Formats: sequence, C-alpha cells, structure tokens
Amino acid sequence: MTVNLHPFPNEPLTISLIIPIYNEREVLPLCLQRLNAVIKKLDIKTELLFVDDGSLDGSAEYLIEQAWSQPSICVIRLSRNFGKEAALTAGLDYARGDAVIILDADLQDPPELIPAMIAQWRQGGADVVLMQRRSRAGESFLKRTSAHLFYRILKHLCRAKIPADTGDFRLMSRSVIESLKKLPERNRFMKGLFAWVGMPTVTLQYDRAPRAAGLSKWSYLGLLQLAVEGMTSFSIAPLRCVSVLGIFAAVAGGTFGLWIGLKALILGDPVRGYPSLVSIITFLGGVQLFALGIVGEYVGKTYIEAKQRPNYLIRDVIEAPAATRRSVLASLGEERHVQTR
Ligand code: UDP
Ligand code: MG
Repeated sequence: MTVNLHPFPNEPLTISLIIPIYNEREVLPLCLQRLNAVIKKLDIKTELLFVDDGSLDGSAEYLIEQAWSQPSICVIRLSRNFGKEAALTAGLDYARGDAVIILDADLQDPPELIPAMIAQWRQGGADVVLMQRRSRAGESFLKRTSAHLFYRILKHLCRAKIPADTGDFRLMSRSVIESLKKLPERNRFMKGLFAWVGMPTVTLQYDRAPRAAGLSKWSYLGLLQLAVEGMTSFSIAPLRCVSVLGIFAAVAGGTFGLWIGLKALILGDPVRGYPSLVSIITFLGGVQLFALGIVGEYVGKTYIEAKQRPNYLIRDVIEAPAATRRSVLASLGEERHVQTR
C-alpha cells in the first residue's frame, strides 16, 4: 500500500489535534495528561490545537500557562462563545497538519485510539478515518434514543449520507480540510458538511466513554436546535412534506364536504355545523402555521446566509515563538497573527 501524498515530501508528516473547549477547566488537566501520554509514543509530529470557545471558567488561561512549557500547544481564543461547530471551523482553518483529528475535551472520545486512527490513515486509501460509536456509556436513555432516531431520519432525508452513530471524532486528511474550507455557509452542521465532502472513508468502531468530569454543554433544547439545523441545512424534504400535508388536508376537506353535501341532499339530514366547523378550522389553521414555520425556517436560513457574517471571530492566537515551534513541529505554516512570548 502507498502512503498518503504529502505536500512537502522532504518534511515529516504532522498531525493537528483539534479540541474545542467551552468551560472545561475541570477536565483539562486529565485531558492533557492522557493526550500527552499518547503523543509521546507517536512517531509523528503533533500539534495540539485548543479552540477556546469563549470559556468563562479559566480554561483558556490554564491552557496558555501549559503552552509555556509545551510548545506543541496552540490556543485559539474566540471573541465569545460561538458554539462547537464554529469552534471546529476555526480549528480546521488554523490547523497546519497533514491531517487533523477532532476530539472532545471531556475524554468521551478516548485519545488512546489516536494511534490506530493514524495507522489506518497511513496505510493509504482513506482520507477520512471515521469513528463510529458501538456504545454510548453514561448517556441517558432519552439522549441515546433521540440520537438514534435523529440519525435514522436524517439518513432518509439527505442525499449526502450522514453515517449513523458518528460524531465529530474522526481523522481527516489535508485534502478533506481544504475541501471543507471551500464551504462558506453560516449554517454549519459539521457532520453534514463532512458527509457532503465525501472522500474515501474507513470506519472504526469504538465505545464512547462517559464524560470524565464537568457537565455536558448541550441542553435538550440545544440538541433539538441542532437536529432542526441538521435537517433543514441538508435537505428540503421538510418543505416537500408540507406540500404533501397540504394536498392531504385539501383532499380530506374536499371529501368531507362532498360527504356532508350528499348527506343533506339524499337523507335530508341538516348539517350540524358548529363543532365540525371549529375542528376543521383549527386543524387547517394548525397545518398552515406549521407549514409557515417550516418555510420560515428556510427563509431565516437564507437571511443569515445573506448577511455573510464570519462564522467566528478570533480574539488571539497564543503559541510558542515561531522559531521554537518550527523546531518542535516542523511547521508547514503560513504567516499568521501570532502573539509571541
Ligand atoms: N463545546 C464548545 N462550544 C460549545 C459547546 C461545547 O466548544 O458551545 C465543546 C466542549 O467543550 C466539548 C465538546 O464541544 O469539548 C463537546 O461538548 P459536550 O461534551 O458538552 O457535548 P456532548 O458530548 O454532551 O454532546
Ligand atoms: Mg461530551
């Protein structure tokens, strides 16, 4: 088998680990400890790219302190909390590696699997090493069931097949990253964007661990929003469903009208109008509002896209001075805004 194409054949391969951080101070020491234990054994240069998504609990300060003694750490601080999808976008834009691995800070994606992912990528033939959850320990029944349902529904709605039971935990080669950078949209449902890009993919199974410390940043409302985002960003099937519902309501209304008309004509049975009228009007009102809501979801999306605002804003990027970094990372990097120490 051949090794993946490398843009600079004389330089060693590097890999960027992208870790979005939002109020993870509690778990960070363990996270770094486990990451470093894995990285130490790797025969590939590794950059640790922490994207601080507006943490308020001192996470960024802790990481910056660690970066003093560990030049492979780079901390990108966003100007406020933009959400995980935006944090990942920032990480992908700034990653210098020949491949990136995205993982959560809470150690739900075990760092110990990184060597297997890299080995799979280096075998060649795959630009994406996708980690699929065999099990989800420590997650509530409701979350497991809703996630299961969501992935199954999405699979039927979208042309780009979003694999079931996969999160953001994956390795992606440089060509995938460059393709992702070409997608300028503001509605960033990353799993959908990853699937849209495609590229040869190998799937590895793993057991998702429970959160090592701290609390999940997702509320059920947030997950519902992400689900709506996922469905409306990658499919217009909901609009079609509404048309079908409209046709169905019209046919049902017409049939009912015909039936009461005939009943009055043939049987001379006068129509007792009020209750049936109220139920028909409220039913149709509901259908119309529902339809309007779905259309509004797409109009709103168009509005947000039209504004062309950036997906994230960077407060600063903190890493070791370029010279130190180069020797440590064999950096491929372009010139960027770097706050040196
Ligand atoms: N995260 C983020 N911005 C947010 C919410 C979450 O960067 O607004 C990060 C968080 O710090 C963690 C990852 O995204 O590293 C996954 O978040 P979490 O564990 O809360 O999600 P869950 O695993 O419960 O889906
Ligand atoms: Mg988590």
